[in-house]
Amino acid sequence: MTWSTHALADQIGFGVYVHVPFCRHKCDYCVFATFADRPHLESQYLVALRTEIDRAAPSLPKASSIFVGGGTPSHVDARALVHALAAIPRHDDAEFTVECNPDDVTGKMLQIYQSIGVNRISLGMQSSVPHVLAALGRTHSPDNIAHAVAAIKAAGFTSFNLDIIYGGAGESLADWVATVQQVVALGAPHISAYGLTVEAGTVLAKQPARHPDDDDQADKYEAVDDMLAAAGYTNYEISNWAKPGHECQLNAVYWSGGNYAGFGSAAHAHMNGRRSWNVRTPDRYNELIEAGRSAESSYEELDDATRTLERLQLQLRTRNGVPVAALDPVDIDDMGDLVQHVGDRLVLTRAGRLLANEVALRLRV
Ligand code: SF4
Repeated sequence: MTWSTHALADQIGFGVYVHVPFCRHKCDYCVFATFADRPHLESQYLVALRTEIDRAAPSLPKASSIFVGGGTPSHVDARALVHALAAIPRHDDAEFTVECNPDDVTGKMLQIYQSIGVNRISLGMQSSVPHVLAALGRTHSPDNIAHAVAAIKAAGFTSFNLDIIYGGAGESLADWVATVQQVVALGAPHISAYGLTVEAGTVLAKQPARHPDDDDQADKYEAVDDMLAAAGYTNYEISNWAKPGHECQLNAVYWSGGNYAGFGSAAHAHMNGRRSWNVRTPDRYNELIEAGRSAESSYEELDDATRTLERLQLQLRTRNGVPVAALDPVDIDDMGDLVQHVGDRLVLTRAGRLLANEVALRLRV
């Protein structure tokens, strides 16, 4: 097959992901490498982060997109965080996002972020309904979501994202509709809506009575898709909707199989087929960086066929889909209304978006 060129990734540019592994509270469903019991490591971690970035910076391309996630970046000292982030080489117009908890956002904090070029905020809203937030094990107050969005707008941010989750225990369809209505009313230019998933090792995994129901989640997916389409958003990846021009650029780097650096504990990186990841805990990360060593835990070299297949799997999830030749004509017929032809591409229909993994199994390279 011939679409193993990397032209798309080259056009999209270089990305940087920075991981901040601290949270005030560990949410019941969360499987990320993030910790609520190690605030004593935060200041040392931010110094180590600056050191890791300084060491890598001379050999890095300028970033077109930077995403600071976690964890809860807004939980750590804003000045110490921007001191570390300022060392990332970037284009002047790079998309520069910091994830925030609604409880943390203040005008002062946003000004500090803006002082180094942060131009996009991603807010972990999850739900507008108190009992749903409680069932998710989230501690922020719904009132703070509106306050945070007001502060983001007052600071002059023209792009921001709200993350919402459907399928929490006790969430009715009406609760979910109320949440979607609120994100639209808040004027978020970008919305990520994820179905709650049960991950091994979480508190949620041990409580089957709270696990989400597939049919309920499908109904909620259709509801959010209808409501956001009616409000002028485009679904550009299964779980992501944006107003025109507000699609997340780091997502585009990931989905095109592009190159990105990763800084901080548990951060992943990809450079031309070499995928690597750092040690998982901030304790070990701090030790290694302070000792003058690399924080890399391990890496793998991806061959061309694996890279191509992974890229197709990711692209299948996007509105641009995959080349028609990525699927056998017999499989395309079999899948009926799960895929549709758009020019020379095959794109998931909404029914297909709900069953994307089954379509992905039939991709060929
Ligand atoms: S705030 Fe986010 S990263 Fe932190 S524990 Fe909750 S879900 Fe995980």
